[in-house]
Amino acid sequence: MGDIIDLDGMLDEIDENVRDEIASQPEVVDKGAELDISKLPVEARRWFKVSGVLAVVADLKGSTKLGTGKRAASTASIYQAGTGNVVRVFNRFEADFIAIQGDGAFALFWGEKNFERAMCAAITVRTFSQKFSERLEKKWPDSPKTGFKVGVAEGRLLVKRVGTLRNRDEQEPVWAGKPVNYAAKAAQAAEREEVIVTGSVWDRVEKNDYLAISCGCPDGPSTGIWKNVEIPNLPDDEPEAQGRLLEAGWCETHGDEFCNAVLSGLRKREGVDQLRAAVQMSQFESAVAAKARMARENRNVGPR
Ligand SMILES: [Zn+2]
Repeated sequence: MGDIIDLDGMLDEIDENVRDEIASQPEVVDKGAELDISKLPVEARRWFKVSGVLAVVADLKGSTKLGTGKRAASTASIYQAGTGNVVRVFNRFEADFIAIQGDGAFALFWGEKNFERAMCAAITVRTFSQKFSERLEKKWPDSPKTGFKVGVAEGRLLVKRVGTLRNRDEQEPVWAGKPVNYAAKAAQAAEREEVIVTGSVWDRVEKNDYLAISCGCPDGPSTGIWKNVEIPNLPDDEPEAQGRLLEAGWCETHGDEFCNAVLSGLRKREGVDQLRAAVQMSQFESAVAAKARMARENRNVGPR
């Protein structure tokens, strides 16, 4: 950094670039529900639009309290074992894009079985987080309590590579749109070892017995694993804000079976007809939730 910075010149250049960018409409190429990320444009003004993308955000609770002084070793372990294994889970469920961001990570899922892969990844992060937290507390009883909070959202994204034109190492895909933002808000609203899904994601969860109804250990299958939740800090009247909160993780006995059932596209379980009806009826539990559902249904008539 020996050179003198021509600050005024740089700011003028930026302003000119902003002016040009605003003056011309960017081209938006509709990719439907599929995207080849290796072919993202980097040259200016060309964006890809991809629909029905599932975003999963895993956020490390209390990370601002993790010190780098005498607690440096525990902090380093928490990040390595925590974020490292979140990424491992996202990879295992074939996330189509993964980024480590701040004190957690997010993954995007599009294309075939993207909803199923995203939900299985979210619940798996929530499940491993419990033992992860227990191990940390045993090793460092004085460290701040931590663990992963998970948010899931769905919607349309615009994407392009942004960065230095000729240097791929200095380019990152930029994802514009609600899903990543809403999933982050949902994760922030969660406690550790909770998964919060936005309204549209719940609309799909409730149609899958393996996700909406518990396995039944120990007291028989139940719909009580999901609770209504309003996700804060979303725009007023945003129907996605009427979400649901899952406290349960995969069952030690049935998790393997259920996870693979979801991934293989199964939805219906034997002997839970009454509970399924109860789940479908739950839209009438609160007027706000019912209204938000109708708004989502109306909005989702066209392509998302
Ligand atoms: Zn079970």
